[in-house]
Amino acid sequence: MRQEIVNGIRKDYNKKRLQAKEDLNIRQNEIYDMLPRIKKIDQEIARLSINISRIILTKPEGLLNMIEDIRETIDTLKEEKEYILKKKGVPDIYLQEVYHCSQCNDSGYTAEGNMCFCFKQSLINELYNISSLGNLLQKENFDTFDLSKFDDIAYGKEKLTPKENTKVILKHALEFVDTFHKRDRNLLFYGGTGLGKTFMCNCIAKDLMDKGIIVLYQSSFKMFETISEHKFNRSLESYDNKDSFGLIYESDLLIIDDLGAESINSFTITELFNIINTRLITDKKTIISTNLSLEKLSEVYSDRIFSRLMSDYDIFKFYGKDIRTKRV
Ligand SMILES: [Zn+2]
Repeated sequence: MRQEIVNGIRKDYNKKRLQAKEDLNIRQNEIYDMLPRIKKIDQEIARLSINISRIILTKPEGLLNMIEDIRETIDTLKEEKEYILKKKGVPDIYLQEVYHCSQCNDSGYTAEGNMCFCFKQSLINELYNISSLGNLLQKENFDTFDLSKFDDIAYGKEKLTPKENTKVILKHALEFVDTFHKRDRNLLFYGGTGLGKTFMCNCIAKDLMDKGIIVLYQSSFKMFETISEHKFNRSLESYDNKDSFGLIYESDLLIIDDLGAESINSFTITELFNIINTRLITDKKTIISTNLSLEKLSEVYSDRIFSRLMSDYDIFKFYGKDIRTKRV
């Protein structure tokens, strides 16, 4: 999946390079119309360059001297060209290809063969697009996470105050992103609405995407819609849907938001098991958030789903008052 995304970006880069050549052609022709001598010079230089190749191929006697002579002529022509352009006030850059990125000339790779920063950035942007999170993450990330919104007084029978509890979860979330490639545990967030579950998922998603990790973030409702479109309506399936369906299994991290909000039936239960189980086997991480209690989860979903969640997920309960209704 990652390779497909990289290939897509490469195609865009090739387009950019072609565009740069085309733009140069247009500028060149303008100059040729204005200054016919420049056209003559360019043609002459091109002809001489071909001559050099020919000489190298046929290896006549005195080869080096011949090449040296031609190179000198070319240099003289270049000087003349430069002089004319300068006199007419045409900037040098006018007859060069102009690239978006001067580090890699829009090839995506630096001279040392490393992926250019601009290419990495394109990859990250692409990951944002496919995660279906878009601009939301600019607002909801670890930097904007505000613990002061949580009450610091005892809540029901819970040992920790909502603030202390959220702090523990936050610490665990940070650990999750810091050790993403090394860990084999997944995350389950449960608790009522408006307690920061989705916000926490967004923080994790953004942090990992910024590191170039492929994250698919879907509400359970949307996820099952994607699956049924893929299974039952394949001939009409859109490309976007095909991508999303593939990512349910292949993304490095799948975040299923609001599990339990889908219509729960034997189809969705079977699919959910397949997803959870396949991702465990293939060592892909999953985060599930749900408004359902653990009792309800065990009641609604099959035993084999519940036992996977209990054994392979770190489970965190969110509790407290709805922070969304609080004024800051
Ligand atoms: Zn670049």
